Amino acid sequence: MSSAGPASGCDAPPVGVDGILRERGQREVFCGLTGIIWLHRKIQDAFFLVVGSRTCAHLLQSAAGVMVFAEPRFGTAIIEEKDLAGLADANEELDRVVNRLLARRPDIKLLFLVGSCPSEVIKLDLSRAAQRLNGRFSPNVRVLNYSGSGIETTFTQGEDACLSALVPDLAFSDEKQLMIVGSLPDIVEDQLTRLLGDLGIGKIVSLPARLAGQMPGVGPNTKYLLAQPFLAETGTALDKRGAEHLPALFPFGAEGTTAWLHAAAQAFGVSEARFEQVIAGPRERARKGLALYREKLAGKRIFFMPDSQLEVPLARFLAGELGMELVEVGTPYLHKGHLIDELAALPPGTMISEGQDVDKQLDRVRAARPDLTVCGLGLANPLEKEGLSTKWAIELVFSPIHGYEQAGDLAELFARPLHRRDLLRV
Ligand code: SF4
Repeated sequence: MSSAGPASGCDAPPVGVDGILRERGQREVFCGLTGIIWLHRKIQDAFFLVVGSRTCAHLLQSAAGVMVFAEPRFGTAIIEEKDLAGLADANEELDRVVNRLLARRPDIKLLFLVGSCPSEVIKLDLSRAAQRLNGRFSPNVRVLNYSGSGIETTFTQGEDACLSALVPDLAFSDEKQLMIVGSLPDIVEDQLTRLLGDLGIGKIVSLPARLAGQMPGVGPNTKYLLAQPFLAETGTALDKRGAEHLPALFPFGAEGTTAWLHAAAQAFGVSEARFEQVIAGPRERARKGLALYREKLAGKRIFFMPDSQLEVPLARFLAGELGMELVEVGTPYLHKGHLIDELAALPPGTMISEGQDVDKQLDRVRAARPDLTVCGLGLANPLEKEGLSTKWAIELVFSPIHGYEQAGDLAELFARPLHRRDLLRV
């Protein structure tokens, strides 16, 4: 294990009694609106209408890249100056935009009104607006709202806000079922569902479903596995509906995926013999896939800047399955309840930081000079220029990385920048 660099005396960062460094200061992170980029692809008949400013529209355009040319199912209702000045009735304007949108796009079955910094600052009540619009458009279109603003949410928390808005809307179901919670690429969701089905678990549902009309029911006989570590609010909302959380490692790598499946197997009374029989083949494939990268990554020192809340589980995977050394594991928020197994599986003494004071954190990066720094696009090129290899954190959210079949690909995402550096050096 490495320490976070030569911080001592008065310069020592304020580490809490639990050994976690908590920092508040300038941050270099996305707001929750970015969640729309992957959520709109997952729920195929939903539309995400951001009620925000031109800044929000620009953010979505640049984050979505070429997707904006494919008639995507998201857009921004721009709050104009006259709305801000209180000269126009923002609610009337919003209704007008929604009317026009739904008339033009009859394929939309679920409409999310997504709050932003400007809509929050002018205190536009989007939950009332959603209720009002529901009165007009139900049952053809369901209208919900959540906040993706930078004041309230960081990056993947946008998905948490979206899914937790869906939960109260789910039908009641008394059926015994397993729910996979978190938006996964379809192919990954299919693989995990197939494995759980092979274990003999009868009914397996996903939140979110791929279509608005197929959202699962929920009730006291629902047990759920979180597929993503950033779903604090969604978990609370599901608990309120009587569902039971199955604590587990997150399904990254061979070991994480095994532990995740095992939690479900135990909760549904699957025998150990059957469990072994079902997972032995895929686990072996994953281990083989990882062995290739272990040679390249073992002993390399990695520093995570906070971005997506995936940092702790990924650090556990990289240290435990690939032998990497963790210099610092930064996360925007640390949900200790959901990460209890992950924290226990980290090497003892791992430096974890929650929140950010970016300049201080960059000082620690420079002092430690890790082999690889995981960070956002805003920091990546400047650090590369200083001779530090970086990995863009956003790719980890957009790429299929969960489950056995993707374990090797996940390792490859970390090996690639180091490989490129070696090639360029020759
Ligand atoms: S929601 Fe806030 S942080 Fe996000 S793009 Fe809009 S103004 Fe910026």
